[in-house]
Amino acid sequence: MVIIFGTKNKSEDLGATDAEVLYANCHNQSPWHVHVVDKKFTLFFMSIFTLSSTYYLLCPICQYGRQISKQDAKELVGRT
Ligand SMILES: [Zn+2]
Repeated sequence: MVIIFGTKNKSEDLGATDAEVLYANCHNQSPWHVHVVDKKFTLFFMSIFTLSSTYYLLCPICQYGRQISKQDAKELVGRT
């Protein structure tokens, strides 16, 4: 019997922050977007559980961003 397992990443937009930010990369001014990328353990291509979650603040225009902590994400959008 062959067991197929691996990982896959799932990205979700948690929403925008209240504050508007001037982006250093593209010089647009708009609210930040907080994204979470979950790394899932898969068995036969089905997601079984989440291995890790990484949070990012992203510019909605150019997708440039930086990594933030879960605590920061929670404070910015009120949910994680
Ligand atoms: Zn931008």
